[in-house]
Amino acid sequence: MRKYIFVTGGVCSSLGKGVAATSLGNLLESRGLKITMLKIDPYLNVDAGTMSPYQHGEVYVTEDGAETDLDLGNYARFTNSVLGRKNSITTGQIYQEVIKREREGRYLGKTVQVIPHITDEIKRRIVLAGKNPDVDVVITEIGGTVGDIESVPFLEAARQFVSDMGKENTLFIHLTLIPEVAGKELKTKPTQHSVKELREIGIQPDILICRSPIQIDKDMIKKIALFTNVASDSIISAYDIKTTIYEIPLIFHAQGLDKIVLEKMNIPRSKIDFTEWAAMVKTFKTSSRTVKIGIVGKYINLNDAYKSVYESIFHGGLANKVRIELIKIDAEDIEGAQDLDTIFSSVHGILIPGGFGQRGIQGMISSAEYARTHGIPCFGICLGMQIMVIEYARNVLGYKDADSTEFKPATSAPVISLLEEQINVNNFGGTMRLGKSESFVQEGTRLHQIYGSSTIFERHRHRYEVSNQYRGELEKAGLIISALTPDKTLVESVEWPDHPWGIGVQFHPEFLSTPINPHPLFSSFIKASNDYGKK
Ligand code: GLN
Repeated sequence: MRKYIFVTGGVCSSLGKGVAATSLGNLLESRGLKITMLKIDPYLNVDAGTMSPYQHGEVYVTEDGAETDLDLGNYARFTNSVLGRKNSITTGQIYQEVIKREREGRYLGKTVQVIPHITDEIKRRIVLAGKNPDVDVVITEIGGTVGDIESVPFLEAARQFVSDMGKENTLFIHLTLIPEVAGKELKTKPTQHSVKELREIGIQPDILICRSPIQIDKDMIKKIALFTNVASDSIISAYDIKTTIYEIPLIFHAQGLDKIVLEKMNIPRSKIDFTEWAAMVKTFKTSSRTVKIGIVGKYINLNDAYKSVYESIFHGGLANKVRIELIKIDAEDIEGAQDLDTIFSSVHGILIPGGFGQRGIQGMISSAEYARTHGIPCFGICLGMQIMVIEYARNVLGYKDADSTEFKPATSAPVISLLEEQINVNNFGGTMRLGKSESFVQEGTRLHQIYGSSTIFERHRHRYEVSNQYRGELEKAGLIISALTPDKTLVESVEWPDHPWGIGVQFHPEFLSTPINPHPLFSSFIKASNDYGKK
């Protein structure tokens, strides 16, 4: 029988429910189990595609082209769970499906209600996510905080799993906060209240994971156990760490989380093997050299907006046994800056990430020019690659007006533009290139050296392309086009000639990087930046 674990959160948001859920996934995989991870977002948007990074952080793109919550990125970095469209559920999707069915007359005249029709659809989707003969455990993270109006139908559906699937096949893990108040005293009251709220809707948590600034002691655990009916050995302390989030599975294991889950769900216990994972954490801890990477982007103030990019840079650091210091530079600040020397004197590499809309573009173009003319390693991703092309067209080809039609529709040199067939489509969601696709890598290029292959598969999320009208000219002026779509119609990557490391890619390699398998592009970029830093 397949097992279902639900991870809920209490007290407040942003406690790291996603990392807690995926750390458990990681531990269960280390015990030899096959898992899948599922994220529920209780908002009415159908997916995260149309949401601003300021609202929601990064949009994580799956292989099958779904635009999802950034927690799926956490799942992908910690586990081997195969993630796709069905691993991300929103209230919008559930209602859309139920209302569609109602219009088709499929409820046979019944009154369509939240319970049972919405909850049934939620349960169907959770079961569907695990429907793969290989999957032993489905871990479902319910977004939001217990007590939010929006999450009620999802919690109700989860509650019903106990009677549908049996107690030993359903497990509830609740993540709460133990805050520190004046005088450095830790307080359990918010946790008590949050569990009470959960129990009021019929869910008794089996395990509590308690976030706190320092590790909670035995007495406190006893007290929490008394008030919440959760066994002392099932209360895990998720204290703040100064190392890396990748250490969290090890910290949970030390407190017996995986053992307790296996016992409670009656899963035969196999020996744990996380040699590789522990070695990775050790590599981080024993690295001493620091490589400083400047990120020139537009959503710099929000930590989560470039989540996968930041993580991938960190993975590149692991591959080179160096620590990373991220220097976040707001592209808009560069726009009026006279003195780029000072801004860039402390960085060893510059990364220009993806993005949409006009704000900050000039700052990114100036940064690319600076990196190109000063031999600083430069990595452009999606929008970043388009910026590198615009900069080259302006400063090497001499088209002063060169631009993307996204930013300047009437430019006289549209080096980045929409494809003919996209121009007359009005549906915003319909024109994006999304998800995994194949690219052909030209032999003899740096990209070919890095991948060691002519065929690569990467994920896309963009509308605009390098205009074929200017391809010949750009190449003649030295820009190397190192990858194309297999039909050779679209540019997938460019390289600066005579430069230590200047690569722009139209796709998003950050969605494929993990701490165990750092993406080769990030490893190579950090290596080049490290070399630059040594000079
Ligand atoms: N805005 C650009 C486009 O749509 C780049 C998108 C991105 O960086 N993801 O093509």
